[in-house]
Amino acid sequence: MLLQQHLISCERSAQTIKIFTSEELGKATDNYHESHILGRGGYGTVFKGILSDKRIVAIKKSKIVDKNQIEQFINEVFILSQINHRNVVKLLGCCLETEVPLLVYEYIENGTLYSHIHSEHKYSLSWHIRLRIATETAEALAYLHSFASQPIIHRDIKSTNILLNNQYTSKVSDFGASRLVALDQTQLSTLVQGTMGYLDPEYLHTSILTDKSDVYSFGVVLVELLTGKKVLCLEKHEEERNLAMFFVSTMKQNRLIEVLDVVVKEGDIDQIQEVANLAKRCLRLSGDERPSMKEVAMELEGLRLSKKHAWIEQNLEETEHLLVESPGSFDYSNAGYETMTTKVRASLNIGR
Ligand code: ATP
Ligand code: MG
Repeated sequence: MLLQQHLISCERSAQTIKIFTSEELGKATDNYHESHILGRGGYGTVFKGILSDKRIVAIKKSKIVDKNQIEQFINEVFILSQINHRNVVKLLGCCLETEVPLLVYEYIENGTLYSHIHSEHKYSLSWHIRLRIATETAEALAYLHSFASQPIIHRDIKSTNILLNNQYTSKVSDFGASRLVALDQTQLSTLVQGTMGYLDPEYLHTSILTDKSDVYSFGVVLVELLTGKKVLCLEKHEEERNLAMFFVSTMKQNRLIEVLDVVVKEGDIDQIQEVANLAKRCLRLSGDERPSMKEVAMELEGLRLSKKHAWIEQNLEETEHLLVESPGSFDYSNAGYETMTTKVRASLNIGR
C-alpha cells in the first residue's frame, strides 16, 4: 500500500513504472528456480527472468520481510522511478502482490565491474576502457548528487554495484541503501550503511552522511581499476590489507608504478598518474577536502578528451605531411581533403 501510494503521488513514475503480477514474474523465472539466480547480495537474491514478450529482466527478491527492508525497497523504487540516465540501471517495474517485495530491472548482460577486474575476464578491460567506465560512473554519480531539488547519495558505491553491458558501458546499480536527502538537510544523522573497504572513514566516525562519502567510495573504485587489487585482503600484511590506505601511502612514497595492474601499465603513463592523483584526492580523510563528483567527472572527461585530441592532432599532422610530401598526380585541393581537415579541426575546437 505504501508503495502504491508513493507511485500514485508521483505522476511521472506512475507512467514509467510497470506493476507486474506475481504470476508473470513466477513464469519468467521458472518459479524462481536456482538456475535463474544471477547473484546474491546483502539484501536479497537477483534472478534472471524472461517475460512473455521475450524481454530479459533482472528480478530482485528481498531476503526476509521486516519493516526496515520494506522501507528500503520502497525507497529504492521511489528513487529509481525518477531517474533516467544512460549510466544508471533502469527500473522497469515492481510487483506489489507478493509478501516479499520484487523489483524488476533492465538486464545488464555483461556482469559486474568486480568480475571483470578480479576474475578470468580480467584482461578484457584495457586502460582505455577502464578510464571510460570511471568517467561514466562519475557522471552518473554527479547526476545523482545534483538531482533535481533533492540530491541523491548512493551510499554503496563499489565494483559489484557497477554493471557493464556488452559495450562495457557503465550502469550504476543498487540504490537499496540510498536515500533522498531532504532539501533543508545536506547532512543526515543515521545508522552507518555501506561496505567495508569502500566506506568513508569520516562517515564511519561521525555518522554524518554527505555526498563526499560517495566520492570516497568512488576513489576506492578508481584504485581498484588502477591496481586490479581487491579492496580488502585479510591474508596480506597489515599495511596492505586495506587497499585505499595502502594506495595512499604508496603514492606518498612515489611508488605508483609498482602497484599498477599489468594491463594498466600498457596505458598512457601521464594520464594514469593524473587519475592516481585524482583518486588520492577522493580518498582524503576530510570530506571537505575531497573534490565533488562533478569536478571528478569533469577531470576524467578532460583527461580522456585531451588524449583523444592529442592522438587526432598527431595523426592529422602525419596525414597532412604525407599528403604534402607525395601529392602524386591527384589534385587534393578538390578532393574534399581540405574539407575533411577543416571538419576535424573544427570538431577539435568545439571539443576544447
Ligand atoms: P549488495 O547487496 O551489498 O549491493 P551485491 O551488489 O553483490 O551486494 P545485489 O545488488 O543483490 O548484490 O546483486 C547480486 C548480483 O546480481 C550482482 O552481483 C550481479 O551479478 C547481479 N545483478 C544485479 N542486478 C543485475 C542486473 N540489473 N542485471 C544483471 N545482473 C544483475
Ligand atoms: Mg548490488
